[in-house]
Amino acid sequence: MKIDVLTLFPAMFAGPLDESIIKRARQKGLLDLNIHQLRDWTHDRHKTVDDKPFGGGPGMLMKVEPLFEAIESLKRAESKVILLSPSGRQFNQRIAQDLAEQQDLLLVTGHYEGFDERIREALADDDLSIGDYVLTNGALPAMVVIDAVARLLPGVLGDDESSRDESFSHGLLEYPQYTRPAEFRGMKVPDVLLSGNHAAIEKWRRAQAQLRTENRRPDLLK
Ligand code: SAM
Repeated sequence: MKIDVLTLFPAMFAGPLDESIIKRARQKGLLDLNIHQLRDWTHDRHKTVDDKPFGGGPGMLMKVEPLFEAIESLKRAESKVILLSPSGRQFNQRIAQDLAEQQDLLLVTGHYEGFDERIREALADDDLSIGDYVLTNGALPAMVVIDAVARLLPGVLGDDESSRDESFSHGLLEYPQYTRPAEFRGMKVPDVLLSGNHAAIEKWRRAQAQLRTENRRPDLLK
């Protein structure tokens, strides 16, 4: 999969996407990630990317010209252009799975007060929020989307790190898990997990996932 990102802060992407599973995905060529500096598509001496909102109000907005030029030059026929914005639809595991089936994503990150609406209207295929809170710019949201999508690409996770049976994959939160020792400071691992009875273990896990979801995230069961 190819992912392009438009940002004012390319340096923010260096650490998180150069470690561990995502680093290996990039090295193996499973993820072709390209981070672009939006200011490269400006033509004035100050490399201006923002301007005051019509109608007044605080803050500045991302200007249309550099973003139109950048998106039009990076976009390919198969690209899906996604804005990151707090007013987008909420990103979740199902959307991550849908995006993992795309060949080419172009993630457009904002800053200041966000985008001139014409960018959304004319160029965006989707508009995603990573949650009901406001961050200073779209670099962290873009990294969240990249990480969640890239780990679902075939070959990225080994068997030990499988995404088949985890929170949200079946509409439920994950069941509780334990590793050795079987007893630690008086806290014991549930007997069923030590029983070797795979059917009983499976049944216990399903019941625990259901219970945990009812208690913590009843909204997922609706
Ligand atoms: N004025 C905007 C609003 O009220 O919706 C907030 C703009 S925010 C300060 C600047 C940029 O950060 C946004 O354009 C977006 O790219 C990014 N951003 C902030 N919070 C986000 C979130 N929860 N999800 C996705 N992107 C977010």
